[in-house]
Amino acid sequence: MNKLDKKVMIADGKAKQIFTTNDPELVWIHSKNQATALNGKRKVQIEDKGYYTNQISGRLFEYLTKKGIKNHFVEAVNDTDVISKRLTMIPLEVVTRNYASGHFVTKYAVKPMIHLVPPVQEFYYKSDELDDPMINESQIEALNILNADQLAYISAEALKINDLLKVIFADMNIRLVDFKVEFGFDIHNNIILGDELSPDNMRIVDETTGKSLDKDIFRKNLGSLTAVYDDVLNRLKKELGE
Ligand code: 5GP
Repeated sequence: MNKLDKKVMIADGKAKQIFTTNDPELVWIHSKNQATALNGKRKVQIEDKGYYTNQISGRLFEYLTKKGIKNHFVEAVNDTDVISKRLTMIPLEVVTRNYASGHFVTKYAVKPMIHLVPPVQEFYYKSDELDDPMINESQIEALNILNADQLAYISAEALKINDLLKVIFADMNIRLVDFKVEFGFDIHNNIILGDELSPDNMRIVDETTGKSLDKDIFRKNLGSLTAVYDDVLNRLKKELGE
């Protein structure tokens, strides 16, 4: 690819900054060293966090690409930055759960880690002011966020992503508990996977010890987040034969 320049910042989010490039179809995404919880109400700078989320996410996107999941990842430009396809994001968080954890446990008073069969799918309407309220299928259609076909497509795609991530993590002796993905429209109006795929957006635990290998380390003050992300990145590199 020709050399791309970082141009104008178009979004400064909790974990990432997005810039235009000299190609209108592509954006430059920088992963920040910031960890947030409680929808941004708690913010901490953590050295090298952007490096780890970017490294893990890029590899997982490439793995999904090989398995036929359309996504926005194009290429890494340096340790913390990638080039991605420019998307118009759909304001939904799509959560898939294989085991009970987090809000599923507090909301329904079930035992942590009970196996959920079939996997549970939930949608949240992305809005910091409203604290990302849960939203159901008919609400998504009635509010013209997506039509029925588009909704069926992202639901099926999230389940495929779940199956593929479960497999690669199982090979790393890691259990995929739950995760959140976001989709967007590309310039041809195709729906593709966007955002990031890192332990910031998923719950993963060591299959043997049950220890958290994700952002719960930060949410629950369980120790060094980067030490745990380093462990995940090393397992992933080994799995990919690097
Ligand atoms: P819960 O609803 O239990 O808090 O989260 C379910 C899963 O979705 C977890 O893996 C969590 O990391 C992810 N998730 C839910 N909401 C958000 C969010 O606003 N940001 C990020 N990064 N992940 C989220």
